[in-house]
Amino acid sequence: MRKIGITTTVPIEILMAAGYQPVDLNNIFITDPHPERLINFAERTGFPLNCCSWIKGIYGVCFDRDIDTVLCVTTGDCSNTIMLAEVLKHKGITVIPFAYPERSSPGLMQQALEVLAGTLGTTIEAASKVRDELQPCRTLALELDNLTWENDVISGMENHLWLVTTSDFNQDHRQYRLHLAALVNESRPRQPYPPEHLRLAYIGVPPVYAQDLYSFLEGQGARVVFNEVQRQFAMPQPGDSLAEQYSSYTYPYSIYDRLRDIRAELKRRRVDGVLHYVQAFCHRGIGDIIFRDALDLPILTIEGNSDFFLGTHLKTRVEAFVDMLRRNQRLENRTASPDWRGCPAK
Ligand code: SF4
Repeated sequence: MRKIGITTTVPIEILMAAGYQPVDLNNIFITDPHPERLINFAERTGFPLNCCSWIKGIYGVCFDRDIDTVLCVTTGDCSNTIMLAEVLKHKGITVIPFAYPERSSPGLMQQALEVLAGTLGTTIEAASKVRDELQPCRTLALELDNLTWENDVISGMENHLWLVTTSDFNQDHRQYRLHLAALVNESRPRQPYPPEHLRLAYIGVPPVYAQDLYSFLEGQGARVVFNEVQRQFAMPQPGDSLAEQYSSYTYPYSIYDRLRDIRAELKRRRVDGVLHYVQAFCHRGIGDIIFRDALDLPILTIEGNSDFFLGTHLKTRVEAFVDMLRRNQRLENRTASPDWRGCPAK
């Protein structure tokens, strides 16, 4: 199959029906042993220092991996992608645009999917067959998600990795299914995380320092039981058609659609606190104002740029946040326990 670069989660069923193998350029960038070299390449081309690292990384990957065709999302993802698409075109790469509808609507989504299928020379019927083929992978990914918060046997990092890669199933959905099925089976008899571990939610775009963040949290006795955007990539509400599937996917639409999903999951997963990750120079960071007003749990906003590890300053802030949550937890336990009630001296 011919490779096609993708800059975010898109209806890959249509690309695959048209004979393309989607390659999520973000995942290639962030798993590169030296991702900073891809950013440097983009900056040497002229990308400004105050441009998001993901955009520069994506650009670098296109040339590093000889990607000659890229599907760029023009509505519903990132305003920077529009100019990235222009530069890619200028450099000789074929750019295919895709626009999510302005709002979540199966009717509008159906039209957008038909336009994309027509551009690539395939049909919605053919793409629906691919959807059926991919469904076992999506079901397994969501099973892993349940094992994370319900059975407490999957780590936040494992959850992040397997959900974030549903954007292209690591370029081989058969291998993805095989390996994930093995992990799901292997994890069931694991010893669950201790109940006293704090339960955190991670909201926002995927971090540039995932490995460090999740392992540092676990070292502090806290773990992520909800990775918001990563879970959305797995399409938790597939509906009855591609149009329904990509309308229920919250990321491209209003922040209020995301909030409905986030609120429900925070409650269901008994979350103690929220980490909101914002990428430096990203417009989505402004949404922090709304999250802070709309969510009634403690929130820590953390930022990432082009450091692929947690710096000392960030570690101290995360540590202080976890300490504060633990103090809250103790206080709540005291209030709830008859032994403590009415005994302020304790
Ligand atoms: S982090 Fe923000 S600015 Fe960067 S690619 Fe994603 S949406 Fe765009």
